[in-house]
Amino acid sequence: MQNELFDILRCPFCGGRLGLVESGLVNRRGDELVDGILGCHCCAFPVVDGIPVLHLEPSTHVARGHLDAGRADLARRALFGLEGSAGERLDELAAAPAATFREIVALLGPEVESGYFLHRFGDPTYVVSHAVVRAAARTVLAGGGRAIDLCGGSGHLTRALLDLSTPPPVLADLHYAKVWLGRRFVAPGCEGICCDAHSPLPFDRGAFRVAACSDAYHYVWTKRLFASEMLRVIDAGDARTAAIVTHTHNANQWNWSAGMPLPPSAYRELFSGLPVALFADSALLAGIVGDGAVDLSHGWTDAELAEEPALTLIASGHAGVFARHAVEAPDAALGEFRINPLYAAAGEGAHVRLELRFPSPDYEDEYGADCRRYLPSELRVERSAIDLLPAAALPPGLADLARLRVIVDLPRRFS
Ligand SMILES: [Zn+2]
Repeated sequence: MQNELFDILRCPFCGGRLGLVESGLVNRRGDELVDGILGCHCCAFPVVDGIPVLHLEPSTHVARGHLDAGRADLARRALFGLEGSAGERLDELAAAPAATFREIVALLGPEVESGYFLHRFGDPTYVVSHAVVRAAARTVLAGGGRAIDLCGGSGHLTRALLDLSTPPPVLADLHYAKVWLGRRFVAPGCEGICCDAHSPLPFDRGAFRVAACSDAYHYVWTKRLFASEMLRVIDAGDARTAAIVTHTHNANQWNWSAGMPLPPSAYRELFSGLPVALFADSALLAGIVGDGAVDLSHGWTDAELAEEPALTLIASGHAGVFARHAVEAPDAALGEFRINPLYAAAGEGAHVRLELRFPSPDYEDEYGADCRRYLPSELRVERSAIDLLPAAALPPGLADLARLRVIVDLPRRFS
């Protein structure tokens, strides 16, 4: 964590400022605090590999004990939940510059949903969340300001905020391993914080101008607290702010992984401190892949949303957000342009045949129909064009495939 993060960090329990406990283990790298202990009026929180852990899960106490004993390596293993040979393997991979996201995710086992995380950049939920967050954040942050991705997992959406947020965006999640993976691979340069969305958020009022939460709001039980906290951390004293909740489930419709959803009217009520609009995810997806536009110009009524399984909510005093925004054409990669991992490639002479293959029957059941709205089931591409991948700049012949999301911008050393 950069030193400037101290300006916005606050204890989630006493609200006090957090300061470095100088008497304990302190590892620094330039202006960055790598390992150490933060203290407030009530608690002592570990910072491990640059990530402050600001919740009181059992692993937090174990990690703090290891830092007290001068063992940042064991603290990291405890926060990853890895012991014995798996812990040693983590140390090896963490120290290896060539280690990949896939290798480290595999170490964590199925509970980190490796299929979901590896295929996230191609899935329809992400296509909508990415386009909506880019459109709203680009508008709000045009004059500067910081963004936060709440319940952000390993940072897929934080990545979309890297070039829009100044200072760099914050990736916040309960799970240390996900935040660590986000900082190393998916959204390099972001700040990472471990915190619990069921507690007050560990930040000062108005620390951010954009607070986003994608595909997670329905899993938080204390939704009233979470909404008021999202509004508090973007209360910067003027209208140039936005709270963005993408892909939250509608309680009146069946969902694959429902969580604890609310009906549209209840989501609206929770964010009513600012002008608020709700949108149907299915219509957003159709506009994004069909017309190349994110249409936020008019919100949907509760009646119009009655049949819609998933909703997007935007609360903002900035009128420019509620407009029709063109979807940006991919051009230069943050990582590198590659074939969407949902495709299997096979050589056929001077061509390469790409075939859409879902990673599991469950994935196909949940996302297959929506994926087929923009991803062709099969196509042949000239080998000379495919041979240019991976590439930092989009080869001209592949622009159409990038618009279709057959070619996507993936993090380096992703798989
Ligand atoms: Zn405190």
